[in-house]
Amino acid sequence: MRVKTAAKVKATKKVKATKKANPKILDRSAEILKRLKVIYGAPICELTHENAFQLLSATILSAQCTDVRVNMVTPALFAEFPTAQKMAVADVARVEELVRSTGFYATKAKNLVGMACNVMERFDGEVPSAIEDLVTLPGVGRKTANVLRSVVFDLPGLPVDTHVGRLSRRLGLTKEEDPVKVEYELNAMFDPKDWGGFSLRLILHGRRVCDAKKPKCDVCELADICPSSEMPYGKLKKTKKAK
Ligand code: SF4
Repeated sequence: MRVKTAAKVKATKKVKATKKANPKILDRSAEILKRLKVIYGAPICELTHENAFQLLSATILSAQCTDVRVNMVTPALFAEFPTAQKMAVADVARVEELVRSTGFYATKAKNLVGMACNVMERFDGEVPSAIEDLVTLPGVGRKTANVLRSVVFDLPGLPVDTHVGRLSRRLGLTKEEDPVKVEYELNAMFDPKDWGGFSLRLILHGRRVCDAKKPKCDVCELADICPSSEMPYGKLKKTKKAK
């Protein structure tokens, strides 16, 4: 069970207190958000769910697994265990069977049942919305907690997954590798109401354009403001002006 220790809380506060974006990066981040809003509109979370418990379960299953695969598994899982109440008394071996294809199934099954037990015993059967509470649930880290907050509770939350971390570094918004440090640096650049949407749009851009191994810089609509673009810096601007 992952419990946030006093030391972790202290470290998190320290990171939060020390990060402030510089003006150049702020300008670039605002332009990136503006363009991503045009490209991707109002993005939706691609994990199928009907309530907070289901999204929390699906997000736990999405670790090291694609959303497509999770969405193939959850209909049968939620048919058998639709609520925290039912999942809390589930046979872990049965849950393992149902989530096997998502990988790391033994840990994920244990976390699902443990999460549901905690929700029943400590939160009266309701998934909590406070990040400090969410991260005390088995299998739930800041990324998962922020998914819940932004998607289900409409609260500020900026999930930093592998796409968000990679693109933030390529776009020159951060040099940090640690997801929590990346999260706080990005938080300082945007209005809290944009945190969740920025993360979802960056994930879509990472999946469709800025691939980990083969970024498609030649068709990327951020190429002229991206320090990592494989296009010669400024070339796109000159091309556009020449038209
Ligand atoms: S220009 Fe290339 S590296 Fe930069 S965001 Fe676009 S695809 Fe990624």
